[in-house]
Amino acid sequence: MRDLFDAYPYQDRYAVHRTLPDRGRASDDVLGELAEMARIEDAAWEEGQCSGTMYAGDHAHYTVLNEAFGLFSHSNALQRDICPSATRFEGEIIAMTLDLMHASVVTDSSPAGMVTGGGTGSILQAILAHREYARATRGIDRPSMVRPATAHPAFVKAAHLFGLELRTVPVDPVTTLVDPQAVADAIDDTTVVIVGSAGNYPYGTIDPIEDLGQVALEHGVGLHVDACLGGFILPFGEELGYPIPPFDFRVPGVSTISADTHKYGYGLKGSSTVLFRDKAVRNASYFLVPDWPGGKYFSPGMEGSRSVGLLAATWTSLVTTGRDGYLAHARRIFETSSLLQDVVRSHPELRLMGDPTFLFAFTSDEFDIYHVADSMKETGWRFNGLQYPNALHMAVTRPQTQPGVVERFRTDLARAVEYAKTQDQPPASAAIYGGVPGGLTPDVSEFIAAMMSDILDAQQTVPPP
Ligand SMILES: *Cc1c(COP(=O)(O)O)cnc(C)c1O
Repeated sequence: MRDLFDAYPYQDRYAVHRTLPDRGRASDDVLGELAEMARIEDAAWEEGQCSGTMYAGDHAHYTVLNEAFGLFSHSNALQRDICPSATRFEGEIIAMTLDLMHASVVTDSSPAGMVTGGGTGSILQAILAHREYARATRGIDRPSMVRPATAHPAFVKAAHLFGLELRTVPVDPVTTLVDPQAVADAIDDTTVVIVGSAGNYPYGTIDPIEDLGQVALEHGVGLHVDACLGGFILPFGEELGYPIPPFDFRVPGVSTISADTHKYGYGLKGSSTVLFRDKAVRNASYFLVPDWPGGKYFSPGMEGSRSVGLLAATWTSLVTTGRDGYLAHARRIFETSSLLQDVVRSHPELRLMGDPTFLFAFTSDEFDIYHVADSMKETGWRFNGLQYPNALHMAVTRPQTQPGVVERFRTDLARAVEYAKTQDQPPASAAIYGGVPGGLTPDVSEFIAAMMSDILDAQQTVPPP
C-alpha cells in the first residue's frame, strides 16, 4: 500500500474471492488457511516487541475466552427472553467494573453502566448521555464540550456525530497534563461535559481529575474520565503502592467513566464498559421507537443485535483472572515499564515525557525520534508514533514481561540511538495511530483517506490473477 507496508501479502498465497465461491469451500481447507494466517500474524507480537494492542498476549487465556465465546457466539443480546445469560453476563460485568471504580462510595445517586463494543462506543455513549441529560435538565440545545488536547479522538468523533461544539485545551509540554484553570476558562453556559484521561493515550499520564472534578461541580457540568486504557490496570497499580492520583467515583464531580475490558481487562476485542454515577444520566441516552409496525423497539446503546458471545468471553476474562490475577499481571507490567524507562533514561539524548506509569513516551531534543523508530523496526520493535512533538510510546503489556525483553530493548535502543545521531535525511517512520508507517505526503488528510480506501477496497485494488 503506497510503499508503506504490503497490505495484500496473501494475494499470491491464497485464492482471492471477488465473488462468492460457486460451491462452498471445505471447512478444513478454510480453517487451515486461517490458522496459517493467524500463526504468521501472531509472530509480530509474541516476542514482546509490540506496544499495546495484545494486552494479554496469552494463548491459553485466549483459548478459554474463545470457548466461552463459542458457546454463545450465535445468541443475540437483544433477545433477553431466550438469552437470559446475556443479562447475567452484562449485569455482572457492569457490577464488577463499578466496584473496581469505587462506585460504592456514591450514596446520593444510583450508579449504573452499560457494556459497549469498544472504547469509542463507551465514549460516544457517555457524551450522548451528557448531551441528552443537559437538554432535559438545563434546556441546552446547542451543547459544547471541553477536552484536553491529549484526549482520545473518540471525543472529536462524538462532537462531530452528536453536534457538540468541541473546545480543545492545550496541555503543558513538560508534564503533558491539562491545566484545570484553562479548562474552567473554556466552560460557558452551553457546556455539558468536560473530559480528563486516566491515563491518556499519547503519554499514559493521568490528568488532575480531582481538580477537574471541582471545576465540574463549580460549573454544574459533567466530567467524563476516560479510563479506557487505565481502568483495569491503574487500580491495581494503586494497590501495589505506585503514586496514582484518584480518578474514579471516589472523586466528587466524576459523572461518567469509560474502562475497556478489551485492553487491560484482557478480554477479546470488541468490548468495553461505560459507567455512570447517576443512572438518570445513562437513561437519558436510551432510544425508543414505541410506534414502529415491527414492534416497540428499544436498544440500550448504538447497536441493535449484539453477540452474547462477546459478553460471555468478557465475563469469563474478568472472573477467571480475578483480583489476584489482575494484581499479579499489573505488578509485572509496572515493574517492566519501570525497567524499560530506566533504559531510556540511560541515554542523555532521550527524554521521557511527563511522569509515566505503565505506558511511557519518549522523544529527543537532539534528533528526530523517528530515526530511532526506523532502526528499532529493523530489530522487530513496533512503537506507537506521536506528534507535536514527535515522540514514541510503548504501552507495556503482558508480552513485554517475558524474560529477555528488557535486555533486547537495552541492546537495540543503544544501536538505534547511535543510528539516529548519524542521520541527515528525514526518517521513514511517521505518526499514525496504531502504527508507524512512513512517507507521509504534505496533504495528510487526502493521503489517509486514500489509505483507508486502499484497505477497504482491497478486492478492487488487488491486481486480478
Ligand atoms: C484505546 C483508547 C480509546 C478508544 O478505544 P477503542 O477501543 O480503540 O475504541 C479511548 N481512550 C483511550 C485513552 C484509549 O487508549
